[in-house]
Amino acid sequence: MVLLVVVIPLRVTTTRAKLHSFGPFLFVKRVGMMSRDTRIAADQHWIEELRMTLVEQFETQTARLTQLTADTGDPSEAHTQAALRANVRQQLDQITGALGRIAQGRYGNCDKCGVPIPQERLQLLPHARFCMPCQQRHSS
Ligand SMILES: [Zn+2]
Repeated sequence: MVLLVVVIPLRVTTTRAKLHSFGPFLFVKRVGMMSRDTRIAADQHWIEELRMTLVEQFETQTARLTQLTADTGDPSEAHTQAALRANVRQQLDQITGALGRIAQGRYGNCDKCGVPIPQERLQLLPHARFCMPCQQRHSS
């Protein structure tokens, strides 16, 4: 009994931590037990959550870009600022690309071969455009 009291709060904490870190992707994990209609609704819900996260990221990165574009008056920082700006711009491109694919209803499918990109990959890289095999061919 004592063991139970100790174990349960620990498990709750772990589940909450996972819930927090996986956020919108949690819906995907439950999909297996659902009917087809529910699954489609869950997919749409998941993508809507993802879209909101991407919009938030877009706003954060845009604000950052504005900050980085402001002249610091220190010429020695110019090079670093330029590198940071390039990095932020690249991230903004990836975010807008993913948002565009969501808007067009083709999010989550490989841009090259059209197969659905595995959810695990999208969890790690929400802006992924290619499935793993195509990505490997693309970069090599
Ligand atoms: Zn592919």
